[in-house]
Amino acid sequence: IPVEPFDLVIFGGTGDLARRKILPGLYRRFLAGQMPVESRIIGAARGDLTDEAFRQMVAEAIAEFVPGDRRDDKMIAAFLERVGFVSIDAKGTGGWDQLAARMRPGVVRAFYFSVAPALFGDLAERLHAHGIADAQARIVVEKPFGRDLASARALNAVLAAHFDEHQIYRIDHYLGKETVQNLMAVRFANILFEPLWKAEYIDHVQITVAETVGVEGRGAYYDKSGAMRDMVQNHLMQLLCLIAMEPPYHFDPDAVRDEKLKVIRALDAPLPEDIVRGQYLPGGGQGGYVEHSENPQSRTESYIALKCHISNWRWKGTPFYLRTGKRLRARASEIAITFKEPPHSIFDDAKGWRENVLVIRLQPNEGMNLMMMIKEPGPGGMRLMQVPLDMSFADALGADAEDIPDAYERLIMDVIRGNQTLFMRGDEVEAAWAWADPIIAGWEARGDRPQGYDPGSSGPEDALMLMHRDGRRWREIK
Ligand code: NAD
Repeated sequence: IPVEPFDLVIFGGTGDLARRKILPGLYRRFLAGQMPVESRIIGAARGDLTDEAFRQMVAEAIAEFVPGDRRDDKMIAAFLERVGFVSIDAKGTGGWDQLAARMRPGVVRAFYFSVAPALFGDLAERLHAHGIADAQARIVVEKPFGRDLASARALNAVLAAHFDEHQIYRIDHYLGKETVQNLMAVRFANILFEPLWKAEYIDHVQITVAETVGVEGRGAYYDKSGAMRDMVQNHLMQLLCLIAMEPPYHFDPDAVRDEKLKVIRALDAPLPEDIVRGQYLPGGGQGGYVEHSENPQSRTESYIALKCHISNWRWKGTPFYLRTGKRLRARASEIAITFKEPPHSIFDDAKGWRENVLVIRLQPNEGMNLMMMIKEPGPGGMRLMQVPLDMSFADALGADAEDIPDAYERLIMDVIRGNQTLFMRGDEVEAAWAWADPIIAGWEARGDRPQGYDPGSSGPEDALMLMHRDGRRWREIK
């Protein structure tokens, strides 16, 4: 279904994110017929590029980041006709009148702030001062949204000075993933799961986001952040909210976000002994974290695992285990919900019994798996075995699976549609920082050092113990 025609200005249009995600994503939406031909995309960044030079850059980005079978020369040419460039200085006066002159009346206006957050205020102020943003205009802001509660509040205040909350789209691309939205469909469009979705029947929840890459190339930036700020406070927290929230009364932006906010507010701070921080060691012919961050004294974590509890009626007693890290064994993101054992076993083969686990895979191979017990086939009597009920989208949807938009594509189309459901509200972001800040302050005050772990492993030893202590195991990262 095509969205309304739009003018989309990408501040930072020549940057890495625009080249890798935003521009190729828009091309794919154009190819799919979702971006109307009356739309325009305007790159706005520092640098003296002509429209033609910027189009060339966009063509190169498409060649690099869109798979060959999705590249159609005619469609690329038609897409590029809709692309232009304005050289702009976010902190100065240059370029703003030219940008104002390019905006057309009667179409949706969206402004993607794909620049450092330090520039958000300058952009917001100038968009208003030059009359470029109308009352319906939308702005899209990227992570990081602050590095603590105070800075997030300051960013919210700067944006709120010029835009209403309903105009502000804070991107967390994890929320744009097909499987993450399917998690909501599975929970709230089936009767099967919701009655079991509580501490009474769920033993524990694991959320894993494992990466194989290190921080090389952006080590100096990352060293001021670390896994808690870079991943847990935003992405893992958002996933946790979608699992734990109460059913919203309607699939409506504020109804959903109200419920997520309640989860964050009910989330207890983990005890110090329930937090494990790690730093990857050298190995595999590559330097370790301290070399990559160029800080031999660094205490920043490239890995974190923690156990936390949600203090509310539904979840009292069900621990949520979160872990994320760099230079691990495999690139894998998943949520695993482990159910409790049946109250009584009628089978002698108790050893064969395994828990039901609902696995929601975000990458690779987005999809869901429900681990079920069945009878082992054959004449060997009633012996039990566990098999996955597999629903990988590629199989279920066949050829249509290729047309599943990636997270950025979907989220940008949501911006044009004016649908904020999959974007973080200001109060959610602040609540998440209010949870994270004292935890970070705690390990800083104690002077905790992260534990070393081997690259290609599944993380520090202590993280295994975090689970073993509770008689549980992490799922294998693969
Ligand atoms: P980048 O350094 O590659 O590009 C920055 C862009 O901003 C360039 O187009 C540059 O011309 C423009 N710019 C810088 N100063 C300017 C000024 N004064 N006036 C006008 N334009 C100016 O950065 P990036 O990697 O594309 O990241 C952009 C934003 O997205 C950052 O906030 C970053 O944290 C966030 N982000 C990036 C990624 C990623 O994968 N690159 C992922 C998530 C979030």
